[in-house]
Parts: sequence; structure tokens; C-alpha cells
Amino acid sequence: MADSSLLADASTRLETALMYVAISEDAIARLQYPKASVSVSIPLRRDNGSLEIFRGYRVRYDDTRGPAKGGVRYHPNVSLDEMESLAFWMTFKCALLNLPYGGAKGGITLNPKALSKHELERLSRSYIDTIADFIGPDADILAPDMYTNATVMGWMMDQYSIIQRRITPGVVTGKPISMGGSQGRETATATGAFHVINTLLPKFDQPPHRTTVAIQGFGNVGAMLAQLLSQVGYCVVAISDSQGSIYASQGLDIPSIRRYKMASKALQAVYCESSVCNIVEHEVISNADLLKLDVDVLIPAALEKQITVDNAHSIQAKYIFEVANGPTTSAADKVLEKKGIFVFPDILVNAGGVTVSYFEWVQNRSGLYWTSEEVNQRLKERITLETEKTWAMADEFDVSMRTASYIHALQRIGEAMDAMGTRDFYSSHD
Ligand code: NAD
Repeated sequence: MADSSLLADASTRLETALMYVAISEDAIARLQYPKASVSVSIPLRRDNGSLEIFRGYRVRYDDTRGPAKGGVRYHPNVSLDEMESLAFWMTFKCALLNLPYGGAKGGITLNPKALSKHELERLSRSYIDTIADFIGPDADILAPDMYTNATVMGWMMDQYSIIQRRITPGVVTGKPISMGGSQGRETATATGAFHVINTLLPKFDQPPHRTTVAIQGFGNVGAMLAQLLSQVGYCVVAISDSQGSIYASQGLDIPSIRRYKMASKALQAVYCESSVCNIVEHEVISNADLLKLDVDVLIPAALEKQITVDNAHSIQAKYIFEVANGPTTSAADKVLEKKGIFVFPDILVNAGGVTVSYFEWVQNRSGLYWTSEEVNQRLKERITLETEKTWAMADEFDVSMRTASYIHALQRIGEAMDAMGTRDFYSSHD
């Protein structure tokens, strides 16, 4: 197994699932390492005329079930190891939702807030120039992730189309609607998480009006999910962003906080600059304290590795729904399990985004566009179905929802790998 820490940690989930799934040794061997990774240097002409070079990556973990699919992240922590782990998770997420895709991920190591909007556009186009031969609507399809959004996806699609000399909307999902984006894509990850929560919490007799929620991360997904939950009666008592957290035991007024954050954007529809901490009528707590609050539901919706062996003992929530990718380390999982805390894994909870990305790709290729009602109905049906199947599998094997998710996904990946395998052919000719 790979020696890098994040990917090695991600891979332990696979090893656990393998104890319950009968898949061939060939398939296991092929899932050990990413199929292909590219590291690129991306030139950017700064507004002041100087040239700066950034590191960028694109990783295709596996594409047995279809073209690789995965987001693009702009963050100072972006590294090859992080990209490989995220591409690994995408592979299992797509299989879990039964999407005809493999898994990929890409990113640029930078602080995007330090660039002007024009610099950000030039850098995004430059990234596509450097990886254009590696991606494509039938090979590897991009999408938004942390600190990228529909605007950035539009630039990327346009740049790829310029290189190809034909409009190629299927190379990128999460685009603006006017450039072939899908209705419902912007809110899909939050909506998917909302359906997963509403499918699972009733199994624990936990109705919305008796449920307190803390959400780490008030970005694309966290803020929308906070709104959806509060609309149906969940009491969202704490939220945070990179600058800090706010807490109100009686519940926060999520719509007004969202309006405040949106109104203080500095990069004209690219990033929010203000912090939720600026809303002074609430108590300000640290991000570390938010994770330890005595709430029913904790939703990490920011970065990976937020719940580790160092703080898992202090978690008081009864249920954790992982909206971020990889927020809980495998060692922390064991502590949480001992404490009786139910963890619902990232590859299920945040799969609404890639599901509607798939719908967008289907619409781009067919040329027939769906209404938001059609998109939302299809999303609800698919994610609810796979949540129920995973729940049944957890029951059947008497395992956690995380292990059940990997078992479910691994069965599908293993079947596809075996279907195209050559092992039987060669062994019968010994
Ligand atoms: P985003 O950039 O819009 O928001 C991230 C939020 O996290 C921001 O509010 C930021 O201030 C906050 N944050 C950053 N560091 C923090 C810290 N140390 N403590 C608390 N908050 C912090 O990103 P997003 O699109 O909402 O994605 C959030 C997570 O969800 C990521 O892990 C991403 O991989 C995952 N995800 C996103 C999508 C999608 O469709 N956007 C799909 C699947 C998974």
C-alpha cells in the first residue's frame, strides 16, 4: 500500500472492507495505487507584470467503471498526497452511488484570496493549458471543490474548448447554467447530505425539532446545508469558517447570516471575505471548541483530518455526518466507535454533488436540459436508495456505515475489474 500518510490512512478503510468482500486478487492489486498522476508547474502573469509559478496536480485513481471524475481544489495545503487520497475517495463515492465513473482529483497549491479576480482567471486557464492532454469528457471530468466555484468552472470549460476548437461542455461540471450547467448543481452536495440525514436520523427516532446541529465550515456546502436543515426545524446552534465559530444555544438565524456573508464579498461573486465571526450578537468560540460541543449532530464541512485521536475523546455529538472529504482519521474512527458515536461517511453524505455533476454531463451530451424539479427528484431517489442499501448492508455484515459504504462500492468496482480482467484466460493456458 502507498506510504504517504493521507492516502495510507484512506486505504485502511479499503483494507477493512476487503475482509467482507470476495473480490479477485487482481482487483485488489489494481486498487493499491493511482492509475496516473501528473504534477505540473503553472505559470501566472501577475497584474504587476511579474511571472509566478504555481504547483498543480491532477490524479486519476481508477477508471474501470467509466471516465474519471473529480473536483479541482485551490488551497495552500494542496499536495500530491492529498490529491491521491481525494481521487481514491472519489473512486469509491462514484461506485457507491452507482455512477458510471472512476475517481479523480486535481488542485493548485496557493492561497486563492491573495490573487485578484483577473489573476485567478489567468491561473485557472493556465492550469487547463497544462493538463489539457490528460482530461476530456470521455477521460477525466473536472468539477468544483474547495475555493473553486461555477465561475472558475466556466473559465476552465471555455479554455478547454478554445484548445479543442469546439465547445466541449462535458469536460467540466458545476458550470454556470448559461454555459451548460445543470439546475440544482450549486446546491446538490448540501441537498444530497440533507436527504442522507433525513433518511438516517428517523431510524434513531431523532426528529428535527429535537435535534441540535453544529456545522464546521460555512462555504458552498455548509451554509446551504445549514439553511436546508433550519428550514425543516433542526436547531443549528453553531457554525464556523476559517476565521472562527459562532454559537447560540437557542439556534442561529441562518438566512440572515448567509445574507451577511454574501453581501460582504470582495472578489465579485468569487469569494466571501467577511467572517461569520463579524456577526456580533452571538457568542464567538474557537473552531476547536465547535467540534466538542454537546450537540446531537456534528457536521464537518471544511477540511480533512479535523477529528483525530487528539480530539476524538472530547467529541460529544451522537451522530457525525461527514460533508467534508476525509474529516475523520481512521484512528479517530476507532475512538468514536468505542464512545458509541455514529459516523456517516463522506463518500455517502457528500455524494449529492457528484451525482448532479453526472446529471449535468448527461444533459450536456444529450442536449436535453432538465428542470430543477427533475434534477432534485432524481437526486433524492438515487441518494436515498443507496443510503438505504448501505444501511441494510451495515445491518447484514454488522459493521459501521463507513465499512458498509466501502463494501457496497468495492463490490461494484471489483465486479467491473473482473469483467475486463485477463486472469482466468491466462491461468487456463498454463
Ligand atoms: P468552500 O471553500 O465553499 O467552503 C469551505 C468553508 O470551510 C469556508 O467557509 C471556510 O472558511 C471554511 N474553513 C476553512 N478552514 C477552516 C477551518 N480550519 N475551520 C473551520 N472552517 C474552515 O468549500 P465547499 O465547496 O463548501 O467544500 C467543503 C468541503 O466539502 C470540502 O471538504 C470539499 O472537499 C467537500 N465537498 C464539496 C463538494 C462541493 O460540491 N462543493 C462536494 C463534495 C465534497
